[in-house]
Amino acid sequence: MNFGIAIHGGAGTILRSSMTEEKEQQYTAALQEALNTGYSILQKGGSSLDAVEAAIISLEDCPLFNAGKGAVFNNKGVHEMDASIMNGKDLSAGAVSLIKNVKNPISLCRTVMEKSEHVFLCGEGAEEFAQKMNLQFENDEYFNDAFRHEQWMKAKEADGSFLDHNVQTQSDKKFGTVGAVALDLNGNLAAGTSTGGMTNKKFGRVGDSPIIGAGTYANNKTCAISCTGHGELFIRSVVAYDISALMEYKNLSLHEACEEVVMKKLVSIGGEGGVIAIDKNGNIELPFNSEGMYRAMKSSKGNELIAIYK
Ligand code: ASP
Repeated sequence: MNFGIAIHGGAGTILRSSMTEEKEQQYTAALQEALNTGYSILQKGGSSLDAVEAAIISLEDCPLFNAGKGAVFNNKGVHEMDASIMNGKDLSAGAVSLIKNVKNPISLCRTVMEKSEHVFLCGEGAEEFAQKMNLQFENDEYFNDAFRHEQWMKAKEADGSFLDHNVQTQSDKKFGTVGAVALDLNGNLAAGTSTGGMTNKKFGRVGDSPIIGAGTYANNKTCAISCTGHGELFIRSVVAYDISALMEYKNLSLHEACEEVVMKKLVSIGGEGGVIAIDKNGNIELPFNSEGMYRAMKSSKGNELIAIYK
């Protein structure tokens, strides 16, 4: 039986020319650590859900990525996070949106999936549930990163005549969401995604990351998918489920389904970004239509990759 894991740390205009060697090393090391964390769980016979959660926690705890500790500032200067997780074995799922101060949103998703009768909890209610379930909270200081603050100031400055996502895409076309997908030794698939959303977002804006079928999907019959990119377009294209559906109903391979959705369907409506994908046989695809995507994968077939640019 094959097993494997893939992770991402966001897609966008990530150019070699605008990256320092030091930054590149930091990103590579952070991806390597998250990858190893997840892979070693799978190697020991652990579940794909455990591997996905652990890999995402590692990325959420790293300030380089727009999730958990590194979550961006919204228009009010606070960090509102979205996340989701899905178990391909029984199609159970957990998702949260617009939550504040929860250290690891992905663990809250898993708690929603396993300890509540619901799938999707939002805002204060989700935080109340997290408190009741004894999840770890952190104060605002923990999330207040100097670089993110500077990004927010720039986005605010450019505000006025643009919609939020246009402000973001004009000034800094980077989507630093994190995600993981895995196949374990028992043939179970799982997927998870976690994000701070878009810098300077307003009005309770929610992207694709916490939406099952848009930003995250897993089904043992087909594949596990986690997305990163311009959330509005990913919601409209129902990206994650669409890839699975093309495999289930049209018998497309993982590669063909990813090409269809990421390189054709999304491109045709201007949806910039990418996905990480693994199928029930352990094949891995990491397609993106942007300049770059922080990505890494490792499988029992002996393949390993850590990459940033095209
Ligand atoms: N998809 C995320 C969102 O729209 C952003 C990202 O991928 O970084 O909220």
